[in-house]
Amino acid sequence: MVMVVDVPGMVRLLKGHGVERFLAELTDYISADFARWPSFEKSPRAASHSKVGVIELMPTSDGELYGFKYVNGHPINTRSGKLTVTAFGVLADVATGYPLFVCEMTLLTALRTAATSALAARHVARPDSTVMALIGTGAQAEFQALAFKAVNGVKRIRYYDIDAGAMAKFARNLAGSGLVLEAAGSAAEAAEGADIITTATAAKTRIELVTEAMVRPGMHLNAIGGDCPGKTEVAAGVLDHARIFVEYTPQTLIEGEIQARPGTAEGVTELWEVIAGLKPGRQSATEITLFDSVGFAIEDFAALRYVHDLAAGRGGAAELALVPTVSDPKDLYGLLV
Ligand code: NAD
Repeated sequence: MVMVVDVPGMVRLLKGHGVERFLAELTDYISADFARWPSFEKSPRAASHSKVGVIELMPTSDGELYGFKYVNGHPINTRSGKLTVTAFGVLADVATGYPLFVCEMTLLTALRTAATSALAARHVARPDSTVMALIGTGAQAEFQALAFKAVNGVKRIRYYDIDAGAMAKFARNLAGSGLVLEAAGSAAEAAEGADIITTATAAKTRIELVTEAMVRPGMHLNAIGGDCPGKTEVAAGVLDHARIFVEYTPQTLIEGEIQARPGTAEGVTELWEVIAGLKPGRQSATEITLFDSVGFAIEDFAALRYVHDLAAGRGGAAELALVPTVSDPKDLYGLLV
């Protein structure tokens, strides 16, 4: 039998465990897997693009476990009442090839993206950062806010979205969170006085959401919405002044903010190198840092490992008969007789 955590199961886990505790522990799982980065198989994700979106497969393996995620990105979807991003994933046993665990990953992608952002900020944002501007208050937004609260000690969020309804939803959902929430009238207004700017917008085009005029010395930029060819959020001039951190350079060159500088990853640092102690994180209080996040398979692998361990530890996880049980492995047809 294959263990399953579906959407209701994930909601039960999150409510039982607490979202902030979940985010903090997930951050540690991702950190542990980034620290052993060379032991993973790595490749840019396989992306199938259409005019309105993308469907991607994200595989990796550490030699003992194999994992993959199916994920889509369709900014047009919210117009018809559907999510921009949905996902599910699988962990399998390398020794037998048998699947071990199937998991919803729509909630888990938002959680792991937020945890990875918080992990990057732990190493490259100013440690005294308490104010974050959050631009784009769609599906990912609350998870980002809560991860930065739980992991980085952010206390105040200045938020902006072109959709007033999405801003109201964000404020409603985080009303009891302990975060101080300040609505802004523009992205530039949200960035005023912020230590960190997180961009989480969805538009399948190149927008200049973060301009040079908005960026102050010492700021950390956490750009998560630019994650596809032709889909970016940060003005090219900002890239010239920032120290840039990425997940996996070959994939980020295709999908991240640095696609604006085709073919060159000069000066770009992979986050795992900082976590493993091979390269420095932030070097001064005035340095501008940018986490050019696109989402990488090892984050999903770590997230699947975490949820598997958490669900197994709590007991009572659902099971799915996904692989036949046979008394004679050569008699598959016998199941029909
Ligand atoms: P969503 O559609 O639910 O929300 C996006 C929000 O951005 C909407 O509320 C929209 O009104 C707002 N927006 C669009 N243009 C804007 C602008 N110019 N200024 C201010 N607000 C604007 O999408 P989501 O699920 O929250 O995802 C957000 C983005 O993050 C998407 O682009 C998605 O592809 C990306 N994403 C990245 C990762 C990663 O690992 N880096 C993971 C998940 C999602």
